[in-house]
Amino acid sequence: MHPGPRSDNSAASKGVIYLDNHATTRVDPRVVRVMLGALTEHFGNPSDRSHAIGDDAARLVDRNREHVGVFVNADAEDVIFASSATVALRKTITHLARSSGRKSFRIAASSVEHPAILKVLSEVSRQGLASVALIEVDHAACLSLNAVERVFADGCDLLCVMAANNEVGTIYPIKELAARAHRADAEILVDACQAAGHLPIDIADWQTDYLVFSAHKMNGPKGAAALVTSSPERLRLRQLLENDSGTLNVPAIAGFGEACRLSSLELPEHCLKMAALRDRLQSRLLRLIPRLIVNGDQSQRLPHSLHISIPSVPSEALIARLFNRVALSSGAACQSGTDQPSHVLTAMRLPSPQIDGALRIAVGSDTTTTEIDAASELIAGAAADILQLTKASQNAHDYAS
Ligand code: PLP
Repeated sequence: MHPGPRSDNSAASKGVIYLDNHATTRVDPRVVRVMLGALTEHFGNPSDRSHAIGDDAARLVDRNREHVGVFVNADAEDVIFASSATVALRKTITHLARSSGRKSFRIAASSVEHPAILKVLSEVSRQGLASVALIEVDHAACLSLNAVERVFADGCDLLCVMAANNEVGTIYPIKELAARAHRADAEILVDACQAAGHLPIDIADWQTDYLVFSAHKMNGPKGAAALVTSSPERLRLRQLLENDSGTLNVPAIAGFGEACRLSSLELPEHCLKMAALRDRLQSRLLRLIPRLIVNGDQSQRLPHSLHISIPSVPSEALIARLFNRVALSSGAACQSGTDQPSHVLTAMRLPSPQIDGALRIAVGSDTTTTEIDAASELIAGAAADILQLTKASQNAHDYAS
């Protein structure tokens, strides 16, 4: 069958301003070039080094393992590739629970972890492989170290904490948490999906036992993520994530490695640029929208993150109104589009109007100041329109009754 003409009529090409970089990021053109080389030149199967073409692909994978290792200050041999962070987290946690040899493996996690972790935790708990304790956060999604210590006092084998939150951008003190975990004879698994590319990550300094991050959150492609670990379970985890999962996705791995290499070179400059754009957007929105609230911990926040609430303006209505003009989100990608309120904002115990009017915004490396200025006007305009419509329908209702 003929596939028919291609359509390149993308929303991005029509000028939609993209401010949902927590969900995913556009692939850097320099990464695309490397991936194209992997698709067309280094196309061999890396598991077959018996000829030069396969060996060439295997060497490309090795080179990119190095780039990913350098990016987090780990040895290349500690880098294990996976198809996504969700898969890496699932297989790692399930394997640790299954192989612990304990009657009940005890896992503690913050209550604001990504659904990719929370789902696995409820599964291992349901299957009787582990007991799970969730640690509460405060109104800014920060963890109290006292609450963490209480969990250790009750007994804990594995602490799961994200390096930074994917909704409100709050950054967690991983080095401190790892030191406390090790003092309590527990291991620590860190989900660094949102932090990678936006915060310096140093495994040797942080002393994490398992670290997971994903290429598509840092201007790399979808289809590649890494678990980085030097634990004695490393070989078994490599077997589960790489060897048992079919042929490695060489182009995605090459793109991931290149995204890491570029980020290793450009991180400080990138973070300054992101923070300047984010702060510009924040101050414009605060000026244009009365009663706007900035959520999260503004002193410990990812440089590209801005989480706001516009009380009395339901976020779903605002997002729908801006569908073709500004791409925004009300929460984690897997939760948007459902009726469920964000578990992060619920755990922060924000009042309902603040949850209903919550918008998750993240600028990206290709965002411009012109886009920031246009987006702030569009968001403020849409919020004012919705408020007016709500008022008009309220008046009509009052009049009728
Ligand atoms: N963890 C966090 C904090 C995330 O933000 C995401 C993606 O949204 C994931 C895990 C899952 O990553 P992936 O899309 O690679 O499965």
